Amino acid sequence: MRTLASIQVVNTAEPIPNADAIERIRVLGWWVVVKKGEFAPGDKVVYCEIDSLLPERPEFEFLRASSFKPTVLGPDGAAQAPGFRIKTIRLRGQVSQGICFPLSILPAGAPTEEGADVTDVLGVRKWDPPPPAGTTGRVKGSFPGFLPKTDETRVQVLEPTIAKHRGRTFYVTEKLDGSSFTAFVREGEFGVCSRNLLLDAADETSLFMRVAKRFRLEVRLKAFAASRGFDVAVQGEVIGPGVQGNKYALPEIALRVFNVFDVSGYRYLDHADMLAAVAEMGLELVPQLGTLDLAHSVDELVALSEGMSVLNPKAHREGLVLRPLVEVRDDYLGRLSFKAINPKFLLKYDE
Ligand code: AMP
Ligand code: MN
Repeated sequence: MRTLASIQVVNTAEPIPNADAIERIRVLGWWVVVKKGEFAPGDKVVYCEIDSLLPERPEFEFLRASSFKPTVLGPDGAAQAPGFRIKTIRLRGQVSQGICFPLSILPAGAPTEEGADVTDVLGVRKWDPPPPAGTTGRVKGSFPGFLPKTDETRVQVLEPTIAKHRGRTFYVTEKLDGSSFTAFVREGEFGVCSRNLLLDAADETSLFMRVAKRFRLEVRLKAFAASRGFDVAVQGEVIGPGVQGNKYALPEIALRVFNVFDVSGYRYLDHADMLAAVAEMGLELVPQLGTLDLAHSVDELVALSEGMSVLNPKAHREGLVLRPLVEVRDDYLGRLSFKAINPKFLLKYDE
């Protein structure tokens, strides 16, 4: 679904102050630190974005020795072949995100035109932090087809997209670093999902089912669905003790909603309707930071993402999520919605 490795053209190469052996190049909207002279503007490269998990193959073995660490974690704790995770790093003060290779690492017959997706031919997968043991409990099945999974695309790959939507008004929310949670009512049936799986509602010991119970989601969703005449899902982030290191130092588990979805009509509620729905259900939203008229470059949006969390002024926020006040379908993205991740957060938490 997500393009992690692709063929790209180097836009720019610039020196890094006080660094002789390395320089920074720009690929899409990312800055990547490379050996000086390794790539020149106009060169085609294989670019792998952060959160790529590169397979354990000879051409990637050099990553084992460097600051990249092999990992064996997968979505929802599922066993996943080990690989090398690409993280945000800082070299001589320059933030570097992603990694570039010459086209020679591609197997014979792989596409080499600009923009071509080479994620699968290289065996690259997405690294996802697994929910900690005990979070999701017993699994009932795969994520239901009548709901969209939660996901956000990084602004760095969206230079043309943000140019296209210049002038549109977006609402901005704080991106929280917890675990993705979905609860739904469909044809009288209540269900709970983690980011990738449908959970067993009978397993009352799991954190996610305890969240559902504590916030009385079955009752509230059913009442809401009955009042509106359509089936509904809420999607949010579970944060607090035991989740992603509880970066906000919360005393208790919380659910912060970022989507209300009309299951019957297969559509997200617009911002104003979502606010009303969440208030009516007595739930909490992710922090709402206001609106902006989009006129920003990728670098400006990344700079905006820096700041402290509304939930804890001592914690760097993970970033921002931007969406139009009225839902928009975009040719490239599908739903128009994207994230700008705070580089300081990534560096601090070694992401
Ligand atoms: P990532 O965590 O980098 O994979 O980014 C996508 C995920 O961010 C979504 O799947 C949500 O679980 C989560 N998320 C946290 N806060 C927000 C927010 N304010 N708006 C939308 N998604 C959010
Ligand atoms: Mn996350």
